[in-house]
Amino acid sequence: MHDKLYIDGHWVAPAQGGSADVINPATEEVIQKIAMATAEDVDIAVKAARRAFDQDGWPQLSGTERAGYLRAIANGIRARQAEIARLEVLDNGKPFPEADWDIADAAGCFDFYAGLAEEFDHNGVEPIPLGDARFVSKAVKEPLGVVGAIVPWNYPLLMASWKVAPALAAGCTVVLKPAELTSLTALELAAIADEVGLPAGVLNVLTGTGSTTGQAIVEHPLVDKLAFTGSGPVGSKIMAEAARDVKRVSLELGGKSPFVIFDDADIDEAVEWIMFGIFWNQGQVCSATSRVLVQEKVYVRLVTRLVEETKKIKIGHGLEEGVLLGPLVSARQHAKVVGDVEKARAAGADVLCGGQRPEGFDRGFWFEPTILANVPLDSEAWVEEIFGPVVCIRPFQTEAEAVALANDSRFGLAAAVMSKDETRAERVAAAFRAGIVWINCSQPTFTEAPWGGYKQSGIGRELGLWGFENYLETKQITRFQSGEPWGWYIKPQAGA
Ligand code: NAP
Ligand code: MG
Repeated sequence: MHDKLYIDGHWVAPAQGGSADVINPATEEVIQKIAMATAEDVDIAVKAARRAFDQDGWPQLSGTERAGYLRAIANGIRARQAEIARLEVLDNGKPFPEADWDIADAAGCFDFYAGLAEEFDHNGVEPIPLGDARFVSKAVKEPLGVVGAIVPWNYPLLMASWKVAPALAAGCTVVLKPAELTSLTALELAAIADEVGLPAGVLNVLTGTGSTTGQAIVEHPLVDKLAFTGSGPVGSKIMAEAARDVKRVSLELGGKSPFVIFDDADIDEAVEWIMFGIFWNQGQVCSATSRVLVQEKVYVRLVTRLVEETKKIKIGHGLEEGVLLGPLVSARQHAKVVGDVEKARAAGADVLCGGQRPEGFDRGFWFEPTILANVPLDSEAWVEEIFGPVVCIRPFQTEAEAVALANDSRFGLAAAVMSKDETRAERVAAAFRAGIVWINCSQPTFTEAPWGGYKQSGIGRELGLWGFENYLETKQITRFQSGEPWGWYIKPQAGA
């Protein structure tokens, strides 16, 4: 089934029969072939999703009934967690414990939205107090329709689940396109949905490229909403194209998130969270805290510890015991990170450690964990997302200076602050112009809490109740109940 498309409850070959190689980024070996869907396949899938929504009754099921399917999918994921995590390692390159965590989170996401679907049966209707007693009104939340979900390669199954779970819970139907680089676990999700008997057409999974398959989903007139995670330029293009049909859009884009460390912070704790914030998933994390600002008094001490610990990171194949850093996802991403670090050097940055392909790793897309200091504020390395294990670090003196530097970005996805002074940490958290703020940590992510960016980091929120609302429309139903005729055109007969 890994070389097929999942459309309308069946595994099918693409209409035009194209395929692409799946490459293990650790070895550059071809491990699988996937199908390349074209506009013709997308059209069939969207029409199936349309029928499942408009005629087959998926949105009319109670939330509790839909929750049954979601919990079955969650259990299906958990039943094969290790196998799916292994597939994610081979496809994406990340270390197994990270993949295992992702897959557990994906299952948890289906469980969480099952819970919201059940609650929805009781809370989906809100009475609206009106200033006119002759009328009563209520607001009803309803599923918004057919969703085109387009996801990236950094958290393949998890990013798919952040969209598919709330969309199905809300009563929408979905056409999902995983990233060409990492499609295998989305196909596993389709297989699990099939096994648990999810009605045909409710979830369709089409592999293929962004420019063909993705574009066809974006342009399809019968899609009601586009849910996208990926790069800024593609997100911006999708938003522009969605305007033609007034499709709903939610965008989760990139960032260049700051991490402000005050001089009262515990140095070892700070080093731990800095490393977690930039080396986890090889730094291919939209919310990675890639700009670290350290208060002057502890700057040298902290940087020394950080370099010392970073040099100890075990690099290797994701299935090897104890490995903490795998390869980057692709040759293209590797070339980009290599190029970005070269440009930083040329701009005058100091490479405190890393900065190249690790010794002995000749095949595969390997890059050492890297720390850059003295990065000019107007250089690309400070301003643009690198999306690799590369952190820029610089000292600051005052709180005001740190906040100004942190907010001086066109992005606003995440920001983090570390200080023992709770009042100061809260003050800085309030001053950050970012959608996700961490105090005394960086990156922990919870299904219950809203996820999304300020400024050019995106629009809309995923996860939690906010992620559920992404897939709902609001309808007002207002009833005239006075008993007296309205009498504007047709006057009541005198004496009648
Ligand atoms: P991308 O090009 O934006 O890809 C994200 C998804 O969109 C993929 O499924 C991609 O398909 C698809 N896509 C590409 N062009 C499309 C189009 N014209 N219409 C519809 N769909 C389209 O991102 P990327 O190339 O994977 O990564 C590049 C950069 O994106 C990274 O360096 C990073 O800055 C950012 N990024 C951000 C996140 C995040 O979580 N915010 C995640 C990953 C990447 P294919 O890839 O299959 O062609
Ligand atoms: Mg791959």
